[in-house]
Amino acid sequence: MRKQILAFLFVVVIASVSYAECDETITIDSVDYKISDVWCGKKIDTTQIPEYEDLSRIPDDFCSKDYKIYIRKAAAESFVEMAEAALADSIVILAKSGFRSSSYQKQMIRKRLKEGMTFEEIITFVAPPGYSDHSLGLALDLSTTTYPFGESKAYKWLLENAVKYNYYEQYPKGNDELKTWEPWHWKFDSTLTK
Ligand SMILES: [Zn+2]
Repeated sequence: MRKQILAFLFVVVIASVSYAECDETITIDSVDYKISDVWCGKKIDTTQIPEYEDLSRIPDDFCSKDYKIYIRKAAAESFVEMAEAALADSIVILAKSGFRSSSYQKQMIRKRLKEGMTFEEIITFVAPPGYSDHSLGLALDLSTTTYPFGESKAYKWLLENAVKYNYYEQYPKGNDELKTWEPWHWKFDSTLTK
């Protein structure tokens, strides 16, 4: 009986922890929106956001379409080395998105609100302003010549080789951050090969 009571109390405690309401909100055009559990507590430390002079542009040859993509200098240099090495193995790896500011995230959300989506729906696939990992200037979204990316030769090549260039897959399949699998999203971490 005692065991059952303890088990019951344990369940109550766990339930109350996981259902704790997130009290974080963001404001877009004077409207406050509640942050969902997936993003709660993951606000980017603003002191870690790069200045424009910390960023460098990825050469056009390694960018998708005519996108102008910026990322922190060391991450850009390493990405170019990685993309060149992939090319030597006949694999095309292109950058599709890099540094994104908080105001850019706001614009993406604004656009979709206008299209009639709810804020909750939007933040299942767009990070709320101030929460995107792209605002640190260390993450890249990649593309290749085939689709979907997660089934491409480029993705397989990255799984084997990216670590040599200090890149890792930030949201792999079954990640514990409640995020969906993002095989195209790779993050630079200069400590990986140290
Ligand atoms: Zn991304």
